[in-house]
Amino acid sequence: LELNLVPLRMGEEEEPGLLLVLQDVTAIRRLERMRSEFVANVSHELKTPVAAVKGFAETLLGGAVNDPETAESFLRIIHDESERLNRLIGDILELSKIESRRSPLQCSPIELPAFLGRLMGLMSADAAKKNIGLEWHADPELFVEADEDRLGQILLNLVQNGINYTPSGGKVQVTAELVQGTDPEGLDDKVRIVVSDTGIGIPKKDLPRIFERFYRVDKARSRSSGGTGLGLSIVKHLAELHHGSIRVESTVGVGSRFVLELPLLQP
Ligand code: ADP
Repeated sequence: LELNLVPLRMGEEEEPGLLLVLQDVTAIRRLERMRSEFVANVSHELKTPVAAVKGFAETLLGGAVNDPETAESFLRIIHDESERLNRLIGDILELSKIESRRSPLQCSPIELPAFLGRLMGLMSADAAKKNIGLEWHADPELFVEADEDRLGQILLNLVQNGINYTPSGGKVQVTAELVQGTDPEGLDDKVRIVVSDTGIGIPKKDLPRIFERFYRVDKARSRSSGGTGLGLSIVKHLAELHHGSIRVESTVGVGSRFVLELPLLQP
């Protein structure tokens, strides 16, 4: 609570008064704290790849460049770390764009079976490389009203995670179906899109925090799979911008299930 005293004098004849203002600043302070934590996290995340690039470049300049094998492996690291920086900056910009509502959604009706087919086509090479089966099914003639690029981003993020956190030989599955609500006119009908995998799963204690920015269960694993730790927070923001929701169910060693629900577009 913040307390302010403001002297008051209504008119010449009246007694001077005192206005006491008590303001609950919990929410403001929390927002300030979150913002400064985010800046600290971003700086830390950016520093790691920059330090690697700098270190390996210096070693090369110091003479390692003369040994072709060493040179190549160091250059590879510099290249990979630069790519990582690029992804990180891209995700940070994306998140800030979404949060500041600077780029409103451009919604149009999307027919899910065809849309899913196109998206899965984009991911099939990644899945095949890891020997992961990618399956999908959408009810015929199922439509949502959504921003096509953004919906694509949501699903690509979820499927990419499924591939990243599933060992070779596993499976990632995407289904889209209609879920009927209670309204007789169907006004609260929804489309439910489920992305499930047979991967490593997420420990129960981490589940509530999984959509937070930069939260990872296993930093090393996220790093080695090229993750930025921002994917799921972008997914959550985008789902909410669409007046939808996202939740997760998971069992360690069995797999995870991300459930996205969006309002249905009435035919
Ligand atoms: P990252 O870039 O690290 O993948 P995300 O925001 O996409 O960041 O996910 C946050 C964390 O949630 C990941 O680091 C990982 O620990 C966990 N996670 C996300 N998806 C899955 C999944 N399908 N299976 C297991 N863990 C997952």
